Amino acid sequence: QAPSYIRAISPYQPGKPITELAREMGLPVERIVKLASNENPLGMSPRARAAVAQAIGGIERYPDQFELIAALAERLGLGYDQIVLGNGSNDVLDLTARAFLAPGRSAVFSRHAFAVYPLATQTVGAECIEVPARQFGHDLDAMAAAIRPDTRVVWIANPNNPTGTFLPYPELRAFLGRVPGDVVVVLDEAYNEYLPPTQRVDAVAWLKEFPNLVVTRTFSKIYGLAGLRVGFAAASPEVADLLNRVRQPFNVNNLALAAAHAALDDHLFLAESYELNRVGLEQIVAGLKRLGLEHIPSHGNFVTFRAGDAAGINKRLLQQGIIVRPIAGYGMPEHLRVTIGLERENARFLEALEKVL
Ligand code: PMP
Repeated sequence: QAPSYIRAISPYQPGKPITELAREMGLPVERIVKLASNENPLGMSPRARAAVAQAIGGIERYPDQFELIAALAERLGLGYDQIVLGNGSNDVLDLTARAFLAPGRSAVFSRHAFAVYPLATQTVGAECIEVPARQFGHDLDAMAAAIRPDTRVVWIANPNNPTGTFLPYPELRAFLGRVPGDVVVVLDEAYNEYLPPTQRVDAVAWLKEFPNLVVTRTFSKIYGLAGLRVGFAAASPEVADLLNRVRQPFNVNNLALAAAHAALDDHLFLAESYELNRVGLEQIVAGLKRLGLEHIPSHGNFVTFRAGDAAGINKRLLQQGIIVRPIAGYGMPEHLRVTIGLERENARFLEALEKVL
């Protein structure tokens, strides 16, 4: 039998797949609008698509991470020994848990934070210390106060999923100054690229001062490569070395490596994706206001709103062919999270929502 801490895990609930709903409702897949998993509605970067086609040519070979790591290191002003690739950024979160947590140790994270933090913590038998949130966002003072002598990891998502809340960088930096040096602070920046450039601060530059910092990013969101599974951690050489010890040798496949490398420089696609999200977020927020629904101001590619009977509304949206994300599992049973889609998808969501309310 599995250890009790494994049996205690509640499995991750992904957004409902389009084909599954189409089957259930007897609808053609084209009629389904999926705004449930914070994916890029523009699809993948055209440069990445071309790179994937080319990489198929070498598929009989084991993957070589060199080029993507070198490109990321150069982009971020880090050494080659400071980048750790993951099969999605979830993988590097998991590597961090495996390297630094164990039974008898604990990890601190906020209520309403990303679901993988408790999962990664519990998987290795460590204890979860969930700290109450402040207006749905992380309360850094409370999180600092919650750190115990056995705490080895603090998980922070900025912007956070599913709330879309954002912590100002000066607060984060001050937090790092207060955390004991033997506690790894994971700053999960999956949605970093959706922040307005004026609001973005390069937290990776703090690694020199805080070798216990791990910054994680992903190619799943603005780069449009969620299905290929590639993300990375930027860390001090000491921490990166430990993450690499527990990493499977070939954890990112050839196609993902090629696509991520190509997408990194697809500035046109990135700018287009950013702009589409900015305008779409305004469109959805305006629509929610029109319907008299309260939302949490979002800094990501999604927005979370108070729906009241979220389960009932979700069910009726599904009947209309619209998939959004119920977040009762995040301690938010009255809210729904909707990903920003194409203009017509956002419009269909708002129309359907008006109908079912
Ligand atoms: N962190 C946060 C905050 C996320 O919302 C997500 C995606 N849902 C991830 C990490 C993981 O994304 P991926 O594994 O696709 O890189």
